[in-house]
Parts: sequence; C-alpha cells; structure tokens
Amino acid sequence: MLPYTPRRGTKKIGPNMAALFKARKVCSALGIAVGCATRSLTQLAALPELHQMLRQTCRDYADKELAPIAGQLDKTHTFPAKQIRELGAMGVMAVEVPESLGGAGMDYLAYSLAVEELSRGCASTGVIVSVNNSLYLGPVLKFGTDEQKKQWITPFTTGERVGCFALSEPGNGSDAGAASTMARQEGDCWVLNGTKAWITNSYDASAAVVLATTDKTLKHKGISAFLLPMPHPGLSLGKREDKLGIRASSTANLILDDCRIPHGNLLGQCGMGFKIAMQTLDSGRIGIASQALGIAQASLDCAADYAHKRSAFGAPIAKMQAIQFKLADMAVAIESARLLTWRAALLRDAKQPYTKEAAMAKLSASEAATFVSHQAIQVLGGMGYVTDMPAERHYRDARITEIYEGTSEIQRLVIANQVLKEYQ
Ligand SMILES: Cc1cc2nc3c(=O)[nH]c(=O)nc-3n(C[C@H](O)[C@H](O)[C@H](O)COP(=O)(O)OP(=O)(O)OC[C@H]3O[C@@H](n4cnc5c(N)ncnc54)[C@H](O)[C@@H]3O)c2cc1C
Repeated sequence: MLPYTPRRGTKKIGPNMAALFKARKVCSALGIAVGCATRSLTQLAALPELHQMLRQTCRDYADKELAPIAGQLDKTHTFPAKQIRELGAMGVMAVEVPESLGGAGMDYLAYSLAVEELSRGCASTGVIVSVNNSLYLGPVLKFGTDEQKKQWITPFTTGERVGCFALSEPGNGSDAGAASTMARQEGDCWVLNGTKAWITNSYDASAAVVLATTDKTLKHKGISAFLLPMPHPGLSLGKREDKLGIRASSTANLILDDCRIPHGNLLGQCGMGFKIAMQTLDSGRIGIASQALGIAQASLDCAADYAHKRSAFGAPIAKMQAIQFKLADMAVAIESARLLTWRAALLRDAKQPYTKEAAMAKLSASEAATFVSHQAIQVLGGMGYVTDMPAERHYRDARITEIYEGTSEIQRLVIANQVLKEYQ
C-alpha cells in the first residue's frame, strides 16, 4: 500500500476534535454551515416530505401522460404542447422561480427530481422543461432587473410559452468564449448579426437569451447577454435538425440579420455575457444530469421487468447470473450518479460552490445513461432493437446527454481544473 501523503499546506493529519466542535458551535450560532451539512446528509438518505410528494406527482404524471405517448412524439417529432401547459399548471416549468413571479418557489433539488421523473417518461419533455427552467429562466432570474423579470419570466412560468438559450455557434461549441455573433449599439437599439447553432426549443420558443460579442478585442470578456423576443424581425430559423434522439424537442439555428432589439434588452452588464453563460451552464448541468438519470432509470425499469417475463432454456432470464450482474451494474451506476446529482443540487441550494460537483453529476449521469441504455438493449435481445419496446428510444435519447451543455471531455476538464486548484 502507498503511504498516505497529506495535501500540500495541510499541517495536521487527522481531525482536531476540539477545533471541530468549536467551529460547529460558531456555525450553529450563525445558523448556516451546520444546518446545510445536516440538511444535505439527511436529504441524501431520504427526501423531505415535500420533495417526496413532488417526486411522486411527477412520476405519476410521467407514467400516465408521458410514457404512453413518448414513442409517438419521437416518431412524429411533435412538441408536447398540451403536456407542457399541464406541467406549467403543476409549477414544473418554473420550479425555482418565486411564487411572486408565478413560479413554484421551490429549490434546485426539487427541480432535479422533477426533471428526472419526467425524463423517465419522455426524455424530450425532460429537456424542454430543463431548458426553460435552467437555461432560460435561470439567467433572467439571477441577472435580470425587476422590470425584466416581470416581462421575461412570468409569462414563461405557465407552459403557454417556453424560452431558449443561444450560446453555441456553427464555428464554436465547446470553445464558447469564441463567439462570433456580434451586437453593436445603434441609437437606442442593439443590432445583432450572426448565427447561433443547435438551439433547443427554437421552433417552439417565444424568447431567447442570446450571447453576442459587443467588443471583440476583449475576447470572452467582450461577450454580452441579450433578451430576444421570438419571432422578431431580423430573426429567422434554420432547418429543423433531424436528430438521433430527443426528437420531440426542436433544434435549429437562430439566424440574426440586422436584428434590432431595444437597449433595455441587455441582460446584466455589458461584457458580463460569458460569466452569465458559465453560471447558467453550471446550473443547467444539474438539469441534464437529472434528464440522464431519468433515461437510465427508464432503461433499468424496462430491462428488469423484461428479465422477469422472458424465459430462455426453461427459466426466466432473471434467474441467470449474467443478466443479474448486468442489472446490478446498471443499478449501481444510476444510484451513484443520482447521489452526485442530489449533492450538486444541495450545494447550489446551500449557496455553496458547486461547479465541480455539477460537472461530476453531469459526467457520471450521462455516462450512466449511455451504459445502462446499452445494457438494457442487451437484456431485451432482439426486442431491444425495435420500436415496439422503449429501450431503443432510451438508447438514442441517452447519447445527447454526453454532448450538450458541455461534452464529457469538457466536464473532465472542468473537474480536473477544480481538483488541481485544490492541490495548489
Ligand atoms: C441536440 C442538441 C441540442 C443542443 N442545444 C443547445 C442549446 O439549446 N443552446 C446552445 O447554445 N447549444 C446547444 N447545443 C450545442 C452543444 O452544447 C454543443 O454541440 C456542444 O457544446 C459541443 O460543441 P460542438 O458540437 O461544437 O463540438 P466541438 O466543440 O467541435 O467538439 C468536438 C469534439 O472535440 C472535443 N473537444 C473540444 N474541445 C476540447 C478540449 N478543449 N479538450 C478535449 N476535447 C475537446 C469535444 O469534446 C468533442 O468530442 C445543442 C447540441 C445538440 C446536438
């Protein structure tokens, strides 16, 4: 065994109990860290009653209203408008938005639970919900003025309208700081020119948060964020992308050609766009981790049920150790990713740093989704490969979770960057 090497700068090895108790007392008096820690640990073991209720409500809705139509929505590339309105009425389209602005006023753990359960029924619906909550409403809630919040948040809480988030471009996805879409000031307007690529919800959206460069010489520090109503003169949509999965959600380019918006549509300060985008993606990754968990859980549900029902060589295949081991590995991958996802959400709710944890959650949950959905098809054999069963859709839907809101390679870079900082 290798000897234990203390972290650089760590003077004492082993807990100093007296100091720990003192710190605990101080924190307790302040009513912060201890409360957060206790809350985190309790919630990782068992969810509070309100969260359990929300989870069950979303699970029931997904079982009754989404799972039965998910295959058809996928086949016909249909936006689930009625279901999105119903989810709006349930508060799920704006989980974290305060009630005063029309939202549910709950926390990010609640949001994560909702997205997981809905994605278990229909991964397309899961991403539509996730983009509206974390990529569109999230930055407006955090960086918008009171006036902007009223105009750009409240109408997007009911499911009547959805928003989108336009960061990527044809020439740059992972390298988000290299935005070539430009915004120039003209009188009391901003004039936007350029193309934003791969925009989820684009065909169904009524507004977008758009990232564009206001000062190219400042590189990523010259990027700003804007609120764009949709449709709008000077804005057109590219072709609707024909995707491998999440086919009920629309994806297209936003083409901006001398697109004029009022000066007051700047979100945050000029030059704050990159910071807004990165903070938005930190939160968004918890949503995508939750979507991936839902897809993975649906795959396991399908495989375990099939294993009981399908017989080979005179016995249910569930009796075969080869199948049991697959199910065990699938369950472990899901549960460990779920704990990481809840942890990231809890840290965010406790207003603690969570960039690394959100990236870990997204990385592990998306890789769990692709692994579990792959194994599910193996358990189902031929039936896994045809559209009579949902396993093939889960397999196709899972793949995107390793790509959008930062590829798995980018998540590893984010995590490594944070880990290395901790050892400086
Ligand atoms: C269905 C779908 C929906 C999307 N929705 C949205 C949306 O709503 N809004 C939005 O703004 N964007 C959206 N995107 C864009 C998505 O976020 C990008 O596709 C993603 O960030 C990857 O960028 P890219 O496609 O340009 O790949 P690239 O950046 O070209 O990457 C290609 C490959 O190189 C790797 N790579 C790149 N840089 C590095 C590096 N430094 N180190 C190691 N490996 C690296 C990548 O991991 C990948 O494997 C969506 C994409 C899809 C497919």
